[in-house]
Amino acid sequence: MLREEGSAQGWCASRCGIRVTSMADDRWRVRLNNEEAETRALIRALSASIDGLSAAREGDNSDDEHDPEGSTIAFERSQASAMRKQATERLDEIEAAMTRVEAGTFGICTECGQPIAEARLEARPYAALCVTCASGARR
Ligand SMILES: [Zn+2]
Repeated sequence: MLREEGSAQGWCASRCGIRVTSMADDRWRVRLNNEEAETRALIRALSASIDGLSAAREGDNSDDEHDPEGSTIAFERSQASAMRKQATERLDEIEAAMTRVEAGTFGICTECGQPIAEARLEARPYAALCVTCASGARR
């Protein structure tokens, strides 16, 4: 006889005939945790690099216009800053996806309520939209 603590939800779901996806949820939870850790590490690395480039900039009194070195640093800094912005936005998406796993709505498009293709979730476990809605939103 199987009687696990905390499986009341699964028991109820099986009684109600709703597909129980706790195994899959665990897998996505792990994937999202990994993505979150990686993204946080990336943000930390980019922040450190931006700080380093800022420090390099401050130690340099010449102006960008006549200093190729200075404009390269400014360019690298803006690149790193853009990447950090992207990573920060992705972190928000990952956290929202983790909330959806807990809520049992993970893998369902937040726009149209249709399931998101598995292949899409494999590539982007934090995807909130199905392919159709994502392509529609990205005009
Ligand atoms: Zn959709």
